[in-house]
Amino acid sequence: MDLYEYQGKELFAHYGIPVSDGGLAATPEEARVAAEELGGQVVVKAQVLTGGRGKAGGIKLAEDASEAEARARDILGMDIRGHVVRKVWIEKASEIAKEYYLSLTFDRGEKKPLFMFTTQGGVDIEEVAAEHPEALVRLHVDPRVGFQPFHGRRLTQEGGVADAGEAKQIQALAGKLYGCFVGSDALLCEMNPLIVTPAGEVRALDSKFTVDDNALYKHPHIAEMRDLEAYPPEERAAREKGVTYVKLDGEVGILGNGAGLVMSTLDVIAIVGGRPANFCDLGGGGSAEGVVDALEVITADPQVQSIFFNIFGGITRCDEVARGILQALEQIDIAQSIVVRLDGTNAEEGRRMLQEAAPPNLHTEPTMLDAARRAVELAGETVEVA
Ligand code: GDP
Ligand code: MN
Repeated sequence: MDLYEYQGKELFAHYGIPVSDGGLAATPEEARVAAEELGGQVVVKAQVLTGGRGKAGGIKLAEDASEAEARARDILGMDIRGHVVRKVWIEKASEIAKEYYLSLTFDRGEKKPLFMFTTQGGVDIEEVAAEHPEALVRLHVDPRVGFQPFHGRRLTQEGGVADAGEAKQIQALAGKLYGCFVGSDALLCEMNPLIVTPAGEVRALDSKFTVDDNALYKHPHIAEMRDLEAYPPEERAAREKGVTYVKLDGEVGILGNGAGLVMSTLDVIAIVGGRPANFCDLGGGGSAEGVVDALEVITADPQVQSIFFNIFGGITRCDEVARGILQALEQIDIAQSIVVRLDGTNAEEGRRMLQEAAPPNLHTEPTMLDAARRAVELAGETVEVA
């Protein structure tokens, strides 16, 4: 789960990492009040789950509260790379002497947290990595040992931080960042820029924060930070119903049971010249009710032109899946054609049930490849009609 800048900064502050004071606003009026409370110059920052907000015009300085209100009016409602700004973070403006970069991610290959640090911050870190790889310090921390003061010293020394006071603050901050990363089960904590003020104070000016979804049960406070409105309606419905759902770009909605089968179904659709619109994984078991939920989620995606149901019955019983499909067709209005391939446990029984009921927009095919061809064909027809 990705956090907004202001949420990441809240966690930073909790772990003792210096950040600027600020307040959240959903309207220009709230922005004015927040700016009044802070006093003086402020910066109005779009809160969206994407980077590059500054370049897109989503970050603006304001001299006083009435200017903050005006800037918030400009920024609220703005579309930044497909993300509509619904909230702004009003922060006490910082004076910037230098912009550095510091992050901590999890390196799966090494099975260790990985620090990255450079004094060439503020800009795209990918650019620094490509053009000045020598300027980017990479340092793993053995999780059995944890963060040690020498890690901090290596970051600043290898990064070429000349000023002793600055180096000391960055070393301390790195230790706190490690505590924050481990303590919140993060996968990424990034500050770009990490600034040095003209007075020599070091502070995180931006935050990018990703928490491991599988650890959210341990962190109710972080789990509550999820902004349901930031997700499309079908993703929201999937989450509520506990359905595994992933949105893609094409036209064929895909329903399968088990990650492996679903992945190969995506491949087969591509092989026969189609594109998946999304996929749902029913997982093992596949109760009739689960099938109804998944179909409801898939058909809520307006891009879906046809649906490919690919079931291999192991623990999942095909007759139970067939029952779910028929039940779903009774309960929800499904305009798209559905192509079903059932194989494995009780497949014959399942196919017989579907054939007997014979709903008009339901097709059964004997193999995965035949079914994929049919689904892609039917998606094409619907596209032409529409
Ligand atoms: P991003 O564009 O989404 O990465 O947003 P950032 O929070 O990193 O802000 C982008 C840039 O805006 C920073 O690199 C700074 O140069 C500038 N900026 C942000 N906050 C302040 C501030 O308080 N004072 C000043 N002078 N500039 C700021
Ligand atoms: Mn940034």
